[in-house]
Amino acid sequence: MEDALEVLRHSTAHLLAEAVKSLYPNAKFGVGPTIEEGFYYDIDLGDDVLTESDLPVIEKAMSKLVSLGQKIERKVITKSEALEFFKEDPYKVELIQDLPENEEISLYSQGNFADLCRGPHVPSTKWMKNFKLLSLAGAYWRGDSKNKQLTRVYGTAFFTQEELQNHLLALEERKKRDHRKLGKELDLFMLSEYGPGFPFWLPNGMILRRELENFWYSVHLKEGYKLIQTPIMLNKELWLISGHWDNYRDNMYTSKIDEQEFAIKPMNCPGGILVYKRDIHSYKDFPLKLGELGLVHRHEASGALNGLFRVRNFTQDDAHIYMTEDQIVEEVAACVRLYDYMYSVFNLSYHIELSTRPLDKYIGKIETWDKAEAALASALKSIGKEYKINPGDGAFYGPKLDFKLRDSMNRIWQCGTIQLDMNLPERFDMTYIDQFGEKKRPVMLHRALFGSIERFIGILIEHYAGAFPTWLAPVQVKVIPVNMAYHYEYSKELVKLLQGEDIRVETDYREEKLGYKIREAQTKKIPYQLVIGDQEVANNLVTYRCYGETEQVTVSVDEFVKLIKKEIKDK
Ligand SMILES: [Zn+2]
Ligand SMILES: [Zn+2]
Repeated sequence: MEDALEVLRHSTAHLLAEAVKSLYPNAKFGVGPTIEEGFYYDIDLGDDVLTESDLPVIEKAMSKLVSLGQKIERKVITKSEALEFFKEDPYKVELIQDLPENEEISLYSQGNFADLCRGPHVPSTKWMKNFKLLSLAGAYWRGDSKNKQLTRVYGTAFFTQEELQNHLLALEERKKRDHRKLGKELDLFMLSEYGPGFPFWLPNGMILRRELENFWYSVHLKEGYKLIQTPIMLNKELWLISGHWDNYRDNMYTSKIDEQEFAIKPMNCPGGILVYKRDIHSYKDFPLKLGELGLVHRHEASGALNGLFRVRNFTQDDAHIYMTEDQIVEEVAACVRLYDYMYSVFNLSYHIELSTRPLDKYIGKIETWDKAEAALASALKSIGKEYKINPGDGAFYGPKLDFKLRDSMNRIWQCGTIQLDMNLPERFDMTYIDQFGEKKRPVMLHRALFGSIERFIGILIEHYAGAFPTWLAPVQVKVIPVNMAYHYEYSKELVKLLQGEDIRVETDYREEKLGYKIREAQTKKIPYQLVIGDQEVANNLVTYRCYGETEQVTVSVDEFVKLIKKEIKDK
């Protein structure tokens, strides 16, 4: 089904090109692949400029071609025929020239339009009734900023009108939930031109972040992890040993101290290994689990930066587990159980993918890889978890499990990973003493559950549309007196009492209309609004209303405290 949808979407990219060609006869075409939820086509319009208002015109031309029901035909040609055929299209010529001499080249044509393509395609334009052009962007030819910038037209297509409409509604909802917009409205974080890609945390965001980190710390301590913190900057020599200097240099920021070169860490592992190597380890110490919420910096092109989703510094919720080979199955199973619990707290479902040995670029013996892959698989089986295999997608140093989370808008996010590493223990000559008193290499496992705390918070903001569960909400209760003259003293006492119970309270003592104050508390998405009037003051009560609900409930102060504290504790 997924593949059929891809064929439809890619065919619709051709339909888009055919329509553009009919409207702009001088247009030249780059590539038009499918992407996660649709397709795009990169187009060189010469002196013409496309704006959003042109999209409906192109859509109309596309619909017309659909109604003509043009047959889509495939034809195989030689490389020289292809070069001749596309001689007016410089981008296609470039693509053809890159093909091997004897490659079979296929041409897909519909009406007066033909495109270079591997296919497959739907048999006729009449299949492509349900499409929508979504947006425009600039894109350098072949992603290289030295090349010309083309116009990228994004669109999507579905087999039925209903699916298309549902998708468009979901896109609208996502716009409303955009974490950059909500981050501003709810005072969670900010970005500044003085530090592109380096987010600033505001007081409300800081509370959210601290709650998340405290949750992480307490769960990991219970699981037997020990916590460390390693430095942000470390000497170049260390990165030479780890291999980062040779393989990851382009993504690292560097500086000099006393004439020596230092790198700002892009990963926590090498620093963590120095902590491991401080002591002599025995098999009896294993599994040794060292956790670190470590701030890492990785260079990203400025054009790729995106709110909290793509940043230049972020906090990895990292941990390294050192163990014997016999312990892999049990420890991986324990990690998966931990992930399962923590994701469920956020109502995030997930699926697991097992990425195996790359075809050519890998280190170590095939037998070791087979053993490691089998260990990951049997860990999952031992706790009854299904998984999908991603052949050849492992890191060069070991196989891994990827956790793909699904948010409330059906988007998939790669967050957690569990990776076995056969490289760093060798490079750093790490050892432990086994039961026969002999030196052995430990197995090293890297794992992160949120991935990046910054990105995870971005995901949560959109997942919850900013209406966080009470335990995470920056402000948990808003106290609103009906009349300042009569209800202020009681409200003040109530606030003191709630604060004494570690509940985050805000008040609204302005001389505004009650309805206005309630509406404003709603826009700030505060979980509980307490309205204090005569009845509450006289009988020591509170009347509360939960965010997004209209029902009001009146209970005693004690009861309210008990109820909200239980909710916070249970998450
Ligand atoms: Zn095609
Ligand atoms: Zn690591």
